[in-house]
Amino acid sequence: MSNLYDVIIAGAGPVGLFLACELAMADVSVLMLEREPEPNSPSKIGPPGMRALNTASMEAFYRRGLLDKVTPPSKRPPNFQKKPGFQFAGHFAGIWLNANRLDLTRFKYRIPGPALDLSLNPASIAGIEAVLAPRAESLGVTILRGKNVTGVSQDEDAVTVKAGDQEFYAKWLVGCDGGRSTVRKAAGFEFVGTEPTFTGFAVQADLDQPEKLKIGFNPTEDGMYVMMRAGNFHLLDFDGGFFDRTQNVTEEHIQDVVGRVTGTDVKIAKLHHASSFTDRCKQAARYRNGRVLLAGDAAHIHSPLGGQGLNLGLGDAVNLGWKLAATVRASRSRYGPVDLSLLDTYEQERRPFAAWVLEWTRAQVTVLKPGPHGAALRQLVSDLIDTDDGHNLFLGRVWGLSQRHDLGDPHPLVGASAPDFEFSDGSRLGPKLEGARGLIVDFGDDVRLKKLAGGDQLGLSALLVRPDGIVAWVTEESLDIEGAKAALARWF
Ligand SMILES: Cc1cc2nc3c(=O)[nH]c(=O)nc-3n(C[C@H](O)[C@H](O)[C@H](O)COP(=O)(O)OP(=O)(O)OC[C@H]3O[C@@H](n4cnc5c(N)ncnc54)[C@H](O)[C@@H]3O)c2cc1C
Repeated sequence: MSNLYDVIIAGAGPVGLFLACELAMADVSVLMLEREPEPNSPSKIGPPGMRALNTASMEAFYRRGLLDKVTPPSKRPPNFQKKPGFQFAGHFAGIWLNANRLDLTRFKYRIPGPALDLSLNPASIAGIEAVLAPRAESLGVTILRGKNVTGVSQDEDAVTVKAGDQEFYAKWLVGCDGGRSTVRKAAGFEFVGTEPTFTGFAVQADLDQPEKLKIGFNPTEDGMYVMMRAGNFHLLDFDGGFFDRTQNVTEEHIQDVVGRVTGTDVKIAKLHHASSFTDRCKQAARYRNGRVLLAGDAAHIHSPLGGQGLNLGLGDAVNLGWKLAATVRASRSRYGPVDLSLLDTYEQERRPFAAWVLEWTRAQVTVLKPGPHGAALRQLVSDLIDTDDGHNLFLGRVWGLSQRHDLGDPHPLVGASAPDFEFSDGSRLGPKLEGARGLIVDFGDDVRLKKLAGGDQLGLSALLVRPDGIVAWVTEESLDIEGAKAALARWF
């Protein structure tokens, strides 16, 4: 078998590229097969490609030294309304969240730092790919474009991937080929969930009377329109999800939906771009089938309401990268069956997160349903969000501040993202993870580090941080080397 790679990744989108970099940093050979011949498809550039990054994604980029490249601070303005005391920090079903209402004392282990910024953090898909693709190549990843993966087969030792009339071979295949994943279908993954209730459209167009459409999120009698700025808007058409998404989106159809959903006589003067999406909500029943794994939209799809999909997918990549790399490296040096226990924690940790996002977006669809029932629920949720408790609950979830994996240890920090500690020399924890290696933080006698920014006693003496920035183990005693060794043996 010629050219047997350690890992083939199908799809060089943001999730596939992030994963490729993680693997290559850990000395794993990677081939990427990408369907599109050129990186910049129209839906990835400009306004249609803009995505909001939450704290978990900001941390992932920060911990690899990439944060300011994917979302330059100068380009992080609050997008919608600027008024005293208000800073847009996302939404739930169009009900706005205010970053200024964040009460950090409710998130005990969150320390303000470069990755904890609740203003809208826009990054375009094309921009992220433009940072990650050259980085992957500089780390030794081969990216072949114009290779549409059409078939997958596997045996005990390897996977064969078909792209057109060519075949490629690897020990592992990861499908990062988006919501309509060929890998998922070809490798026989079950995909379970709910069918759509609406069709959404992301539109760039010149309008004859743009002033008639209000900036922001606007629920209407027939759906919702979201006006980013004149000419860039999203439409949610509660059509039962019947629009046939294999056909091109025509100007005529968009005009019809604009009239119905906005309830105005605004006319499209020129359509520049339109793509469709739905609230179909599904998740792969498993994330690994033999030597084939799934990550990103290939593993889970849902409506883009609340901007969670990319954040979820990047979380998959950072979680899977070091585990798959460790599995590949271990199998090089051992004979006999591969130990898959570490790799299988990927599915155990990530499936519940995706299940939560699916529920979160389903709840928003229900709140947005046209008619008196949806309106009543919207009012109730709006009242809840208006309380300090409610606001912080929603901020914590949208921004990933309350995310925690269940690693079987009741300590609230185990399974959560490591606080971005500032050390006596002014350095911070985040950049110390740039090499994607785990580390032990021993606070020694540094009393300052044993306190959080708010002055709360942290009560910790040492902790073990995984390469993905998740705390795997803590001790409140002085550093116990045996305990640290036992924790290390579990993970590495
Ligand atoms: C309107 C809209 C707004 C959104 N806003 C947000 C937001 O604000 N925040 C957020 O977190 N998420 C948002 N999302 C979701 C986000 O865009 C996706 O979750 C994210 O792009 C998924 O990344 P991915 O790499 O898994 O898949 P994709 O971005 O779909 O990339 C998949 C790649 O695989 C390639 N590919 C597909 N099939 C094959 C094949 N057979 N062979 C080889 N290559 C293949 C594709 O060409 C593509 O490059 C939004 C989505 C939409 C539609």
